[in-house]
Amino acid sequence: MEMEKEHRSSHPRLVLVPLPFQGHINPMLQLGSILHSKGFSITVLHTAFNSPIPSNYPEFGFVSIPDNLSEQLISAEDLLPFISLLNLNCGVPFQECLAKMVQKQEVENEPSIACIIYDEYMYFCDAVAKYVKLPSIVLRTTSASTYLSRNAILQLKAEGVLTSQGPSTNIEGAVASLISALESLFNIFYLGSTSQDLVPGLHPLRFKDLPVSKIGTPEIFLQFITNIYKTRTSSAIIWNTNDVLEQPSLQEIQKQCQVGIFPVGPLHEVAPASSSSLIKEDNSCITWLEKQKQNTVLYVSLGSVASVDKKELGEMAWGLANSKQPFLWVIRPGSVDDQEWKKLLTEGFVEAVGENGCIVKWAPQKEVLAHGAVGGFWTHCGWNSTLESISEGVPMICKPCFGDQRVNARHVSQVWRIGIQLENMCERGEVERGIKRLMVDKEGKEMRQRAKNLKERIQLDIREGDSSYNSLNKLIELIMSF
Ligand code: UDP
Repeated sequence: MEMEKEHRSSHPRLVLVPLPFQGHINPMLQLGSILHSKGFSITVLHTAFNSPIPSNYPEFGFVSIPDNLSEQLISAEDLLPFISLLNLNCGVPFQECLAKMVQKQEVENEPSIACIIYDEYMYFCDAVAKYVKLPSIVLRTTSASTYLSRNAILQLKAEGVLTSQGPSTNIEGAVASLISALESLFNIFYLGSTSQDLVPGLHPLRFKDLPVSKIGTPEIFLQFITNIYKTRTSSAIIWNTNDVLEQPSLQEIQKQCQVGIFPVGPLHEVAPASSSSLIKEDNSCITWLEKQKQNTVLYVSLGSVASVDKKELGEMAWGLANSKQPFLWVIRPGSVDDQEWKKLLTEGFVEAVGENGCIVKWAPQKEVLAHGAVGGFWTHCGWNSTLESISEGVPMICKPCFGDQRVNARHVSQVWRIGIQLENMCERGEVERGIKRLMVDKEGKEMRQRAKNLKERIQLDIREGDSSYNSLNKLIELIMSF
C-alpha cells in the first residue's frame, strides 16, 4: 500500500480535455483510467455543455469551464458549426483555468502538470498549452484510415485543385466536387467516374465513402479538417486503434508525421471497466437478453448523434419485425425527427413483434455486446461502436450516416470482412434480407467466425509484450520525460 502511494506521488498530473460528445468523452476517460492505473493524477477540464458525471470517476478531478453554449440536443447537421464555436468560446476560460492550476501547484506543492492531452477536435488547446508553457498531446478518436482519407482531401486543397463549388446542400454535390478534384490530383482521366468508383490510393474506399460533410460549402468542411489536422506544437499523437486493425495506415501516417504516434487501442479494452454514459443506461435489457438463445439477438443502435426520419424509422421497424429475429433496439431521445414516432411503433408493430423485441432509450452497450445472446450489431459504424463490436467478436450490419462512419463501414465489410453494408435508402425488404444474411445464412456465420478471430488477435495485442501494450509503455516514457 505504502509502495503504491510512493509510486503515485512520483507521477505528475495530466490534464485531459475531451470533446463534449459521448463518442469522444468515452475514449478520453478510458485513456484517463489507464494512465491513472499507471500512477498519474488526472484532472478533466470540461465544458458545462454535456458535462461528464464526476461521480463515475471519483479518482479524477473535474473542473467545469463556462462555454457560453446552451444545453440542447445537437444534431449531425449542427456538428461542424458547433465544434467551431466551441473552439472559439473555450480558449480564454480554459487558459485562465490552466494558468490558475499552474500557480496553485507551485504554491501548494501539488503534483506538477506534465502535459495536456486533448481531443483532436478541441484544437484550441494547442495555443492554450503553448501559452501556459506546457507540452501537449493529441488524442485521435477516429480511425487511422479516416485520417488518411481526410488528408487526401487536404492535399487537394494544398495543390489548389479543390475549390468551392458554391453551397452544396446534399452529399451528391459534395461527392461530385470531390470527384473532379481527385481526378486532377491523381492525374488520371476518369471520364464518367461515379461515386461507386474506387478512389486511387485509398483502397477500399469509393468516392461515396469519403468522409465529406454534406452541410454547407466544401470550404467550411475543408477549414474544419485543416483545423483538426494542422501540424502544431503537440509532442505526440495517441490513437484509439492498433496494428491488428490498421497497421498499413498507421505506418503510412508515421511516415508523414513529425512526431511519434502511439496506437494504444482499443482503449475500452485496456481501461478498467467504468461507465461514462451521459444518458442513464437501461439495464432491464440485460434481463431481457438473459431469456434469449445464444447468438440470436440483433442489437440495433445508431450511437449518440445520428438520427433518422419517421419514414426510415418505419422501414427499420418493419424490416426488423419481418425478419422474425429477436432484436434489442436503442431509440435515443431526440434520435427521431418526429415527436409522433411512438405512434408508428404501436400501429400493428407491437403485435407483430411481441416478446421478440426490446426497445430502450439507452443501453449499457459494452455489456450488451459482450452478452452471449447477441449475434449481430446493426450499427452506424461510429468508431467506438465499431471497436466495441470487434472486441466482442460481433459481426455487423453497417448503416453509416455521416462523416467517418462511411470509412469505418467500408473497412468492416471489405477489409476485415465481418459485416454487411446496407447501401441504399433504408427499405424494409433490404433490411429483412440483410438481417437474414447476417444472422441466419452461412455467409453470416463465416463473418462471425472472422470477427471472433479478430477479437482473439486484439486480445493478444493488448497483452504484455505486444504492440498496443508496448505503445502504451512508450507513451508513458515520453510523458515522464517532459
Ligand atoms: N453507447 C452506449 N449506449 C447506447 C448507445 C451507445 O453506451 O445505447 C455508447 C457506445 O458504447 C459508444 C458511444 O456511445 O462508446 C458512441 O460512440 P460512437 O463512436 O460509436 O458513435 P457516436 O455516438 O460518436 O456517433
